[in-house]
Amino acid sequence: MENTKTTVLVTGGTGFLGVHTVLQLLQQGYEVRTTLRSLSKKDSIIKALEEGGISDFSKLAFFETDLTNDNNWDKAVKGCDYVFHVASPFPAQDPKDENELIIPARDGALRVLKAARDAGVKRVVLTSSFAAVGYSINKENYVFTENDWTDLNTELPAYIKSKTVAEKASWEFIEKEGSGLELSVINPVGIFGPAIGGITSASLDIAVSGILNGNLEYTPTFTMGVVDVRDVADIHLKAMLSPEASGERFIATAEGVMSFYDVAELFKKERPQYTSHIKKLEPIGKEFYKEVSNKKAKTVLHWNPRSREEALLASADSVMAHL
Ligand code: NAP
Repeated sequence: MENTKTTVLVTGGTGFLGVHTVLQLLQQGYEVRTTLRSLSKKDSIIKALEEGGISDFSKLAFFETDLTNDNNWDKAVKGCDYVFHVASPFPAQDPKDENELIIPARDGALRVLKAARDAGVKRVVLTSSFAAVGYSINKENYVFTENDWTDLNTELPAYIKSKTVAEKASWEFIEKEGSGLELSVINPVGIFGPAIGGITSASLDIAVSGILNGNLEYTPTFTMGVVDVRDVADIHLKAMLSPEASGERFIATAEGVMSFYDVAELFKKERPQYTSHIKKLEPIGKEFYKEVSNKKAKTVLHWNPRSREEALLASADSVMAHL
């Protein structure tokens, strides 16, 4: 296979997006490495990859690293052509102290970038978030693009702040100390799609399991963009390979936005077998529609995401299958 000589490191292989990214790289013949906080979690990654159809693990290596210390990062990146920096804390609830998220997000990204620069890696693809794009402008029908930034001078939830601080620090590092290392950034909206091996993340736990287990009774007033985890993994590979992607950020979203109410209605219509016990969600106030553009990713990277309905139904099916 043509990619056999190319080595890619994915940070955070235990995560929902991390494991899908490892899967796609292996499927395409790359030499793959992944980092995890404890090697004892290796088996969960293998189980998920087996569920994704992988049976030969000779091209996959594991490294124990933590975003909060320097150990092993140099070993993990040595000899890599590309690095996908996916790992970052994403809890379902914000901690009391925002630094629990900001420090690993920012310092972890800088550790990975420094190690990549020193090892002569060609390009890092950083998983940022729509959190770093769209949390400061509150205009109805505003269309968010990659030119927008969440304003750090406003009150922000810890996770939103951690992603914005980490992405800003990464661009600054590349500009001042990058020594030719290339950076591309992906800014996904809410990531859904299948949870292979039962590996979910806060987005699925809140919006999919929360609705399916009937715990959620009210729908928040905001709408969210939706994107399938398989398409987010794919856009990382496209950003790795595209000459035009260096120095650019790309919003990753399927078409349109949805409220939790829309998600619950979709599940009730398309998956009545899971939803007979769910009450109608009561909207709290008027829903506030923000649009998010995926035009840049589609035109520059030729990226074609699945629909938001397909992503959400795949999540619902996999959550139910892993119960
Ligand atoms: P996830 O399943 O919670 O994955 C987070 C990953 O980060 C896990 O592998 C976790 O490792 C790792 N991590 C957290 N703290 C760490 C630390 N101190 N040291 C080393 N690793 C650490 O969530 P996900 O959805 O896949 O998130 C992956 C990336 O996508 C994150 O950068 C997130 O901000 C971004 N993102 C997610 C969404 C979404 O809706 N899911 C949307 C936009 C952007 P453990 O397994 O050891 O905890």
